[in-house]
Amino acid sequence: MGASAAYHLARHGVKNIVLLEKEHFLGQGATGRCAGGVRYQFSTSINIRLSQESLPMLERFNHEIGQDINYRQCGYLLVATNEKDAAIFKHNVELQNSLGVPTQLLSAEEVRRRLPFMNFKDALCGTFNQKDGTVDPNSVVMGYVSAAQKSGVQVFTDVEVTGVDLKGGRVAGVQTSQGPVETRMILNAAGPWSGQIGQMAGVHIPVIPLRRQMFTTSPLKEVPADFPFVIDFARSLYFHREGEGLLIGMSNQEEKPGFVQSVDENFELINLEAAIQRMPLVEKAQRASHWAGLYEVTPDAHPIYGGTEVNGFFVCTGFSGHGFMHGPVSGKLMSEYMLDGKFSSLDVSMLDLKRFEEGRQIQEYNVV
Ligand SMILES: Cc1cc2nc3c(=O)[nH]c(=O)nc-3n(C[C@H](O)[C@H](O)[C@H](O)COP(=O)(O)OP(=O)(O)OC[C@H]3O[C@@H](n4cnc5c(N)ncnc54)[C@H](O)[C@@H]3O)c2cc1C
Repeated sequence: MGASAAYHLARHGVKNIVLLEKEHFLGQGATGRCAGGVRYQFSTSINIRLSQESLPMLERFNHEIGQDINYRQCGYLLVATNEKDAAIFKHNVELQNSLGVPTQLLSAEEVRRRLPFMNFKDALCGTFNQKDGTVDPNSVVMGYVSAAQKSGVQVFTDVEVTGVDLKGGRVAGVQTSQGPVETRMILNAAGPWSGQIGQMAGVHIPVIPLRRQMFTTSPLKEVPADFPFVIDFARSLYFHREGEGLLIGMSNQEEKPGFVQSVDENFELINLEAAIQRMPLVEKAQRASHWAGLYEVTPDAHPIYGGTEVNGFFVCTGFSGHGFMHGPVSGKLMSEYMLDGKFSSLDVSMLDLKRFEEGRQIQEYNVV
């Protein structure tokens, strides 16, 4: 979010932009640890519309930014195994089709035919959209950062924001581990840590860090090159091709909020067993790598965009497990809002911070 916003602000001619990152390298937060999935398949209009703006930006990325990001349009295939999910899938496909996304509803037979080496005897139906797929997160971060730097943005790593200075009720600067920076505008794009930055400005941002983890396997030649991003929805278990092997993840519904980013080995075993049950050939593979990262979760699983009660203090956070794919449009939207006070590319004004106090939450079902 920070890199995309810095790039888009600089493109609008803003000078003196500073991007501060506490880690030694950029993109080591949620973005660098994510599964790289990008999709149009959501259950609310606003998330579908965000994808309709953001995914074409990823398609044009190489042309616009000059960085290959390996956008593989392998499609997402979501599988329902209970009646409740099957009914919601049908509704979602109707909603997506009505907005111009050509998602198909697949019968149980069709699901099994498309995934011959998976065990989906209990499938009731599936949904598939070919333009969903995967993108390399680090290439997107580095693409935006390099392009932003070329437009004059200064990027500092190993600089932790430790405080926010206010004067007369508005932003005056930030305190950092390397000294103060004066500014009249701050964009809090600290992902899972955005609540902490909010506290520094006295702004409550209801974002909870929640650990999610995944592992990759050694090459599995049986998995075809066009294998889709498969989600066993009821178990929130997913598979997609990663190199010549697979990336496999599953959400731990018992996970407690917190900032720990080490892998929970016990849960990894549960994930592995579930994966083998669905795809027995996983048993032949070795674990190639594994890692954990933090979702930045809001009470309604939708992001927060816009200003706050503190003048000059803006937020772009809370994507609740699917923010990477909306990074391009989110940076663009925040640049519009910070400069003009309104969102021009897409009206996301209902995703403001105030909705939580005012009881205007939005519900999204398609988040695993
Ligand atoms: C395991 C996992 C899988 C996921 N899979 C997908 C997926 O398939 N598709 C998808 O679209 N999304 C996915 N997501 C969600 C996605 O990764 C996030 O929504 C998105 O990356 C959030 O981006 P961000 O810029 O807001 O946060 P981040 O990428 O975390 O960036 C915030 C940055 O702020 C820095 N920071 C924090 N505090 C400070 C401070 N005090 N001072 C200076 N710097 C600070 C951090 O170090 C970090 O680099 C996944 C997330 C996880 C954890």
